[in-house]
Amino acid sequence: MAKWTDQELQKRVETLSLQHFGLPFRHLARFNPRLRTTGGRYCLGSHAIEMNPRYLEEHGEEIFQKMILHELCHYHLHLQGKGYQHRDADFRYWLQRVGGLRHAPALQSLQSRKPKYVLICVECRQVYYRQRRVDLRKYRCGVCRGPLKLRQSNSD
Ligand SMILES: [Zn+2]
Ligand SMILES: [Zn+2]
Repeated sequence: MAKWTDQELQKRVETLSLQHFGLPFRHLARFNPRLRTTGGRYCLGSHAIEMNPRYLEEHGEEIFQKMILHELCHYHLHLQGKGYQHRDADFRYWLQRVGGLRHAPALQSLQSRKPKYVLICVECRQVYYRQRRVDLRKYRCGVCRGPLKLRQSNSD
């Protein structure tokens, strides 16, 4: 389980900014535990970046840094007076260029029902959560097309 302090987050954001944009991040970065399904946000007024700590805990540092890169695209484009919104060409160009995530992945901890079935790909170890039974002879991994096996069954 990855966990950073606000100071660590600040440093990571500053480092990622220099590495990927060649520009400093000069404002505040902090965790905001009140964000629920939002992975992070850029605040237009204060230029602060707020991140949801649950995504770091659930998805790890690699995914989380790609979520930070997404917010940094908003940040730098907004400060430069360029198209900083999701639909803008500048935003899409920079998001792709720096390898930022377009959408934050789902949070398992926020799903109301516990998944009944947990499947895992034998080849690439991708995990799938399903409420309904899946025919393992027909169903294959969406990432690598490998065969799946049942890892856990919480049927009641
Ligand atoms: Zn965004
Ligand atoms: Zn796979």
